[in-house]
Amino acid sequence: SERSSARAASAPAAAAGERLQWEARYRAFQSRDVSIDMTRGKPCAQQLSLSDALLGLPGRGGYVGEDGGDARNYYGGPLGLPEARRLFATMLGAPAEQVAVANNSSLALMHDMLAFALLHGVPGGTQPWTDETDRFLCPVPGYDRHFALCEAYDLEMLLVPMTGSGPDMAVVEELVRDPRVKGMWCVPVYSNPTGETYSEEVVQRLARMRTAAPDFRLFWDNAYAVHHLTDREEGVPSILALSEQAGHGDRPLVFGSTSKITFAGAGLGMVAASRTNLEWYARHAGVRSIGPDKLNQLRHVHLLRNHSGLLEHMNGHRAILAPKFALVEESLRRHLGGRGVATWTTPRGGYFVSLQVREGCARRVVELARQLGIVLVPAGKTYPLGHDPRDSNLRLAPSFPDIADLAVAMEGICLSILLACTEEPLP
Ligand code: PLP
Repeated sequence: SERSSARAASAPAAAAGERLQWEARYRAFQSRDVSIDMTRGKPCAQQLSLSDALLGLPGRGGYVGEDGGDARNYYGGPLGLPEARRLFATMLGAPAEQVAVANNSSLALMHDMLAFALLHGVPGGTQPWTDETDRFLCPVPGYDRHFALCEAYDLEMLLVPMTGSGPDMAVVEELVRDPRVKGMWCVPVYSNPTGETYSEEVVQRLARMRTAAPDFRLFWDNAYAVHHLTDREEGVPSILALSEQAGHGDRPLVFGSTSKITFAGAGLGMVAASRTNLEWYARHAGVRSIGPDKLNQLRHVHLLRNHSGLLEHMNGHRAILAPKFALVEESLRRHLGGRGVATWTTPRGGYFVSLQVREGCARRVVELARQLGIVLVPAGKTYPLGHDPRDSNLRLAPSFPDIADLAVAMEGICLSILLACTEEPLP
């Protein structure tokens, strides 16, 4: 597609001589002492340092919120501080009154929403969701931890192919005619792992579609909303506004996180939703806890200030990450271009490069790379239950290694792909 350009494979089989060369290079590589972790999309130390001011914030005397409350004490409710809610409103595409800022993990919020739905039901439903019958739509390849949530609670997962501009909407519209389909995972911007951004048409159709379940929810995980790698910044229209216009205001639950903005796992998770959904959330979250960590919220407000401050901060990440993604692209093109063994994405943002290697070869690539000292995420991880029916998708996370290690890793990964994908003679 135009948005997430996959490089087409073209050339025929590797000549036997070439394969011998790769084998020799692979063996030479094996004797090097390499140990590189390319599994999870973790920020590198340099990225984390962009937010080191947080370590001294809010500082002695900086604990009073804008409404005069003492953030060292219990105050406010489950929805978070007003200044923190305002800070993330633009990123989530919602008015501040429709934003809740919580603790350190958006995944925990998604978990809680799912758990509350299973225990209590959601507004618009007549009964709690049930693991016996209920189903979730899972665009693939997708984020393994979304699938893990469904797996943990026995929700059946239905696969929807991604197209390069979002999920295949014909498939989605057909599947939501089943009243047992209660929800869908979406990473609308720089999707994990394909890097694609949903087209406006896809977002419109998701907002407007008729679902048989009156209590259907889009789990709209906008984890990479501001994580651009180029000047051509991608984004989606507000799913909350579009859904409301279409008469389905309670459909989306919009999640965000600063895990890839400030400190991973020590930042803030947040959710935006209709007033009805937010009241429902506050009711149940208010039982679970008196309220979120407000000092961490104040720290973030002091550091990022407002949406433009946040965007400015993201430029620092881009300066560190863009050369790493460029190196990955250049390496894939140089080693694999025109060889007919793999296609890959060239994302304009987010944290991942997604590769399709020859069918039946992904596990073997991961194994060959492991023998070189390069740890990739297990093949299949980007599919529900860890099962990629074509054994073809690989997810690369270039953020964590330094650029020298990344160059080494890419050479090893490309060699592993060349070997794994030419073990059988190509047709
Ligand atoms: N959502 C997506 C799509 C992610 O890729 C990640 C982390 O990789 C998360 C959520 C996790 O966010 P948090 O640290 O806020 O739980």
